[in-house]
Amino acid sequence: MENIGYYNGTFASLEQLTIPALDRGVYFGDGVYEALRVERHRFFALQEHLSRFRASLAFLRIDFMMTDAELTQILQQVADRVESDSQQLYFQVTRGTAIRTHAFPEKAEANLLAFTRGVPLADLTEYRRVTVLADMRWGHCNIKSLNLIPSVMAAQSAKERGCAEAVFHKNGLVSECSSSNLLMLKDGVLRTAPADAQILPGVTRAHFLMLARELNIPVDETAFTLDEMEAADELMITSTSAHGLPVGFVDDRAVCRRDEALLRKLQKAYREYFWDTLGISDHI
Ligand code: PLP
Repeated sequence: MENIGYYNGTFASLEQLTIPALDRGVYFGDGVYEALRVERHRFFALQEHLSRFRASLAFLRIDFMMTDAELTQILQQVADRVESDSQQLYFQVTRGTAIRTHAFPEKAEANLLAFTRGVPLADLTEYRRVTVLADMRWGHCNIKSLNLIPSVMAAQSAKERGCAEAVFHKNGLVSECSSSNLLMLKDGVLRTAPADAQILPGVTRAHFLMLARELNIPVDETAFTLDEMEAADELMITSTSAHGLPVGFVDDRAVCRRDEALLRKLQKAYREYFWDTLGISDHI
């Protein structure tokens, strides 16, 4: 099969999978999610994703009784039912199914939804265009909550402006993008906003920072301004699906392309780490 979904014990094609109308994810977005890369049916950085998932569940006080081992077994079954060697797997847990009242229901068991489909790895060569928008999200952006309306609206605005991503700022200070982190190279230093409540602590972001340190590239976790962003030597959008995409334009203004050697070095280090960690050596 080319795509498959799972909901509370049932596997079905994505066209056929259904969930109850009273799942609190449907009407409140009352849940958390994760998205993983799966190459040749092996998960990349599973532990990092699971630990962020547990932190998100704890913040929202959702009781999810499954152990990591039980959850992983289900995710593996989902991935194994899809033939593609290159997948993007999504899973979410909601607080449960109950009549709609805002406060937590007395009795409700968490619901697990998972699905995956073939998605090729991103092309890292081409410089992308971004736009800039005010960050209208809540004060807990470190939580991977299902409530993504500000990000959905921002992604649509970016698309309408012919951009790959929307960079968020608060009073001129850059936080991250609508569905990725933003890393800057300036004078040989890799800089990005700190992992506080203003951003999602990206698994990819953490890997790039780790690899930079290994390569003796100084790392600075201090937020930068929009002006500093425009004067960057290079900018990189990082996420599980994007890996590390270079930015060449902010709206119609050409930016970056001043330290391509360092950018390419980091991208190469990341892809090598990616394949090594997966234990795959014969990739293209
Ligand atoms: N920031 C936001 C708002 C995101 O939605 C995502 C990914 O979904 C990221 C950053 C990147 O996180 P990761 O590298 O763990 O995919």
